[in-house]
Amino acid sequence: MSLIVQKYGGTSVGTPERIVNVANRILATKAEGHQVVAVVSAMSGVTNKLIELADQVTGEGEPTEREMDVLLSTGEQTTIALTAMALNSMGAKAVSLTGAQAGIETDGVHTKARISNISPAGVHELLDDGNIVILAGFQGKTPDGKITTLGRGGSDLTAIAMAAAIDADLCQIFTDVDGVYTCDPRVVPDAKKIDEISYDELLEMASSGTKVMQSRSVEFAKKFGVRFEVRSSLNNNPGTLVKEETMSMESVVIRGVSLERAQAKVTISGVKDLPGSASRIFGAVSEENILVDMIVQNVSKTGITDISFTVHKDDVAKAEAALKPVLAELGDGAMVGAEDGIAKLSVVGIGMRSHSGVAAEMFKALSDAGINIEMISTSEIKITVTVSEAQIDEAAKVMHAAFGLAEA
Ligand code: ADP
Ligand code: ASP
Ligand code: MG
Repeated sequence: MSLIVQKYGGTSVGTPERIVNVANRILATKAEGHQVVAVVSAMSGVTNKLIELADQVTGEGEPTEREMDVLLSTGEQTTIALTAMALNSMGAKAVSLTGAQAGIETDGVHTKARISNISPAGVHELLDDGNIVILAGFQGKTPDGKITTLGRGGSDLTAIAMAAAIDADLCQIFTDVDGVYTCDPRVVPDAKKIDEISYDELLEMASSGTKVMQSRSVEFAKKFGVRFEVRSSLNNNPGTLVKEETMSMESVVIRGVSLERAQAKVTISGVKDLPGSASRIFGAVSEENILVDMIVQNVSKTGITDISFTVHKDDVAKAEAALKPVLAELGDGAMVGAEDGIAKLSVVGIGMRSHSGVAAEMFKALSDAGINIEMISTSEIKITVTVSEAQIDEAAKVMHAAFGLAEA
């Protein structure tokens, strides 16, 4: 008998029929003699709908974050009840648990809380009593009992973290594609499913727009050594195994291409090139919990420079508001401006560590296709550029072809 954690995403539980399909899959796993914890997401579209409702009742104002989490957590709460009901009506013994009931504790950063502790004794007790546990993804509670949520896509994190906490033998992330592909198959139709991928590669892909897994969940899996598979809830095809790096993985130079839309570039110009300027800028932005990505500082000519960084376009107003009060300290004529309509394109692969020329190949392919590059940043295993959002799909196809990923 094994202890298995399964996670079913929004599309997989998107209709009553699909919930029944998921219940059947869970039951089949239990019937093989395993203990099962199934983490479920809100039915597809529900979380977005709840966000819209919050916007509608608050008009110009921002919804209070505490109440936002009370609201968002209801999406997953609906699915756990329906999935447990479906299983019970099939004659199985299933119990639903909210994140709080399952002992998932987080910090107090509403809407993007971090898990601080899991007390799984209650889950173990229920499993030992022969129950299937249906656990709400994406949520937890603070030590003083406030409901929190774990950021978009956070049900992945619930599954990985619970698998680590109960020392599960297997963690399966069921979704609406057969696994992790060389690029989003909705954008590049000849993208190929990857059989095995390292934590680092998936982490870089996830943090640069490959939303098949939430990046924080991959980070968690790497930290605690949780091997997991990503596979489809709609068929029985083998999926993608995500695990620590092996020697043979190095021979593949580029594993995948990621794209991220809806980005904006924020530029602070007229900044005195003195120690402390960058720290003031990014201190002010991070206090607002805004995620900053590519950072570029120009070479200063006259002791004055400008600094640009990218953020999600929805964070522009917040970033500008956070920066206005510190502008006077940055230089007499310091100004902040923003440009949206940009997107990020990344190529990722651990083989890049031992192969040179990847950047040159990437830039040449984009230039041959007439696609202009604005900003560039690199890590050991990733190169990211920004391009116009209107050209991102074409850019992804060009990259995929340039690195021969369709033949992978
Ligand atoms: P779930 O609701 O199951 O969590 P998501 O919508 O979060 O599913 O993630 C699955 C989607 O991720 C797929 O439908 C696919 O369009 C998208 N995706 C983006 N990049 C990739 C990739 N490289 N491989 C697989 N899927 C990808
Ligand atoms: N329902 C949440 C979201 O849409 C969490 C998840 O599906 O993983 O982001
Ligand atoms: Mg998801």
